[in-house]
Amino acid sequence: MPATMQVLKWTQPRLQRLFRYYNTRYWGGELPEFRVVNRRLKKGIAGWYDYTHKTIWIDLRPEKIPADRYVKQVVLHECCHVATRQSRGPHGARFFHEVLRLIGLGSRWAARDWLEFDDAKQEIVEATPECLARLRQFHSDLREQLSSNAS
Ligand SMILES: [Zn+2]
Repeated sequence: MPATMQVLKWTQPRLQRLFRYYNTRYWGGELPEFRVVNRRLKKGIAGWYDYTHKTIWIDLRPEKIPADRYVKQVVLHECCHVATRQSRGPHGARFFHEVLRLIGLGSRWAARDWLEFDDAKQEIVEATPECLARLRQFHSDLREQLSSNAS
């Protein structure tokens, strides 16, 4: 089945169920209800969120979401933004705190997301040098762990 066929399965109700599932599983249902809507986004961006309008946008076109599973990673990523309660901003300490918390709870999508931010550790500007060193170590341990588990 081509990738385009796979992503077409993501109807709005199904996207909404995914958001609710993550909200319940990782935040005990405490995130405000956001609508998850398929929409074209600008180049290089697969997901976006708008705190004011309580909306997460996801661009399901195959050049943005090349495989079904990335929908989960993108929605979870945006959920982490929602959890910061910040309207918009860089991927700062509050954002990465959420990502790391989810990894601790066993989310491999959060783990994949964390690994995609190669300069993430630079962005956590509030962290002390000791904390950054620990995060870098965590990052490389996780990379090793995931690559040895790769199927
Ligand atoms: Zn983001």
